Amino acid sequence: MTIKAYGAQASDKPLQAMTLTRRTPGAHDVQIEIAYCGVCHSDLHQVRSEWAGTLYPCVPGHEIVGRVSAVGTHVSGFKAGDLVGVGCIVDSCGHCEECAAGLENYCDQMVGTYNGPTPDAPGHTLGGYSQRIVVNERYVLRIRHPQAQLAAVAPLLCAGITTYSPLRHWKVGPGHKVGVVGIGGLGHMGIKLAHAMGAHVVALTTSESKRTAALALGADEVVISRDTHDMAAHAGSFNFILNTVAAPHDLDPFFELLKRDGTMALVGAPATPHPSPQVFNLIMKRRSLAGSLIGGIPETQEMLDFCAERGIVADIEMIRIDQINQAYERMLKGDVKYRFVIDSASLAA
Ligand code: NAP
Ligand code: ZN
Repeated sequence: MTIKAYGAQASDKPLQAMTLTRRTPGAHDVQIEIAYCGVCHSDLHQVRSEWAGTLYPCVPGHEIVGRVSAVGTHVSGFKAGDLVGVGCIVDSCGHCEECAAGLENYCDQMVGTYNGPTPDAPGHTLGGYSQRIVVNERYVLRIRHPQAQLAAVAPLLCAGITTYSPLRHWKVGPGHKVGVVGIGGLGHMGIKLAHAMGAHVVALTTSESKRTAALALGADEVVISRDTHDMAAHAGSFNFILNTVAAPHDLDPFFELLKRDGTMALVGAPATPHPSPQVFNLIMKRRSLAGSLIGGIPETQEMLDFCAERGIVADIEMIRIDQINQAYERMLKGDVKYRFVIDSASLAA
């Protein structure tokens, strides 16, 4: 069926209204009426072809929440009316070592919610800046938050899992001093989740204006990362740092904050590389540099349930779809507290 969507026709063009077709649900498919979709910085990187290989038209959006409107004949886990979410993954091979471990995010054939290969027209996947999506039930998540929180749940589908997964992998918990670098969509969820896991959380930000808000999000301390004196006071004291910054920057001042055996995991995905860390900054204290990509489907469900039990949602600013181009400009200036979410009803206008 034909539905309304918003997307870009080229890397130098703004997003605009367009139509697209969704497949009729197959035996294992769930059809979802999208209620809200979060706006991730990855959407902007992809639309503007800052990463290689953007296919046009590009309809971004991988923080999707809504209600099931139809299910295929073999779907057992969902029924019409259920509140559900779709994150960054809509398909994978289903049988490799990674898929068997529930780590579909690391499957070589993982299909992203947008810009991934699909037999459906136009030959690549089109995401959540649209009225409806059809997804194999294996990649559909159940939402247990109250419906009133639905819009603020949307960002959990990417910003939530992308920060939850490394915090779990590196076993963050009580007694750990954890830094979160960059307090944007991902970073603000990183603070909330690390705090909920019992860590001592330090927000590392370039924005003095975020100091009070970062404390309200659950940070125990705030450090202005441009302030060398402030940074020096924390030298060699962190167990783990989660770096969410969307642009290339000098990583060395953050390595100097890590204790012996500390790790900094990068989740920010800038278009051009960071200047390399100085080797001595790693070897002198056996420090590690790591990376992490979203999270698998079982862990995404675990994260959603963890957040539902504790009442954790994102801090959002709701927008209409026709405000999306302005929202991108504001996101580039760091002018969002802390995630834009599209009210998908505005697509009908
Ligand atoms: P965002 O909302 O724009 O937040 C990024 C934050 O980084 C900013 O708020 C800012 O925080 C800080 N920053 C400092 N210098 C910056 C600069 N020159 N340009 C931009 N930001 C700067 O972005 P997001 O949605 O959280 O995404 C962050 C990055 O993670 C993006 O590159 C995105 O593509 C990537 N990502 C990766 C994964 C993954 O699986 N690894 C998943 C989702 C997104 P302060 O004001 O506090 O300094
Ligand atoms: Zn994302």
